Amino acid sequence: MQLTTYLQHAIMKYISTYLLFLSFFFTVESFAQMVQTENGLRSSYTGHSNHKIVQVEPVKGKKVKNVILMIGDGMGLTQLSTAYVANKGKLNILDNATHTGLSKTYSANKLITDSGASGTAMATGQKTNYHSIGVDTQGNALQSLTDLANNKGLSTGVVVTCGLTDATPAAFCANNIDRDREEEIALDYLHCDVDFIFGGGRTKFNQRSDKRDLMQEMQQKGYQVCYSWQETKLAQMGKVFAVIEDGQLPLADERGDLFNKAILKALENLSANKKGFFTLFEGSRIDDCGHWNKVSQLIPEINDFDQSVGEVLQWAEQDGKTLVVILADHETGALTLTDGNLSKGEVTVNFANTSHSDIMVPVYSYGPQSELFSGVMDNTDIFNKIKSILKL
Ligand SMILES: [Zn+2]
Repeated sequence: MQLTTYLQHAIMKYISTYLLFLSFFFTVESFAQMVQTENGLRSSYTGHSNHKIVQVEPVKGKKVKNVILMIGDGMGLTQLSTAYVANKGKLNILDNATHTGLSKTYSANKLITDSGASGTAMATGQKTNYHSIGVDTQGNALQSLTDLANNKGLSTGVVVTCGLTDATPAAFCANNIDRDREEEIALDYLHCDVDFIFGGGRTKFNQRSDKRDLMQEMQQKGYQVCYSWQETKLAQMGKVFAVIEDGQLPLADERGDLFNKAILKALENLSANKKGFFTLFEGSRIDDCGHWNKVSQLIPEINDFDQSVGEVLQWAEQDGKTLVVILADHETGALTLTDGNLSKGEVTVNFANTSHSDIMVPVYSYGPQSELFSGVMDNTDIFNKIKSILKL
């Protein structure tokens, strides 16, 4: 007994010394990279990505059968400029998009939007209040692009790296005046009828205060319900509801190419519909890294998103009737690129805040009708243009 206690003490002492060392190391490491200045947080980073860069040719036809909307949450022009320099001048988005525009992101009652209001603007064509999801400023439910596409017999998809009850995916599948009512938002997935759903946030579906298990209820509605990537990979054609994490998916370094694989699985599934499809693919966690002012995590997230953009563009080039629109819902961190070296992949950046900004965000497009996404537009125009192109 005494020996056991002695051993426990020894082990605890060892662990606490180790933790102390680790915390000291990380504190020193982060001080070395980040400096608090009068204007915000300045940090430096050297790129080391070897993600796949593709080269696609513009398509010739005009007919659009499918639309893929790719959102980098919080991925403003400076985030992309920083990733471009860190990658020594290579980025699939910048190298392959055939048209470029700018989108105004302000919400109905607040200049600086959140993902709820901006997601709603893109999904439904209406500016709404900060924190609202799929409803107008009076709280009335609005039809989203996914609803309209479903009604026309198109297939629909939502693939995200955050929880499915987080603001952006919720704007395409749910209606609520408050994005924080995540258990209510989860219930809306029972009725939104999206064909291929992939993301995280499982506790909102199966560890609920009302004790309901929405994973099981989705299965009863005819979905193949998947709890892991392994199960998702093996899913047959038809409806898929894959919620593979309790919370958000891990960050890019830990996630590997999961986002990419999920997108390719979704495309395989959705393209079986001869009428076409509309799908949302979101690199959700770019926004988190902006909030944390962590350029060393921000760049790998953008690279992961950019790698998937490359895959999607190659798929669209092959298909010839797919329009791809790549944009952000807002900028995060009020980032500026203040110095760097293009040939060495070095960047020095300054974050001026830890929330969002109202800097217009870039819109990149590729495929038939992509010219309609050039110039300055409002985020609500994204809805209007896609609705008109797909005749929804
Ligand atoms: Zn955010």
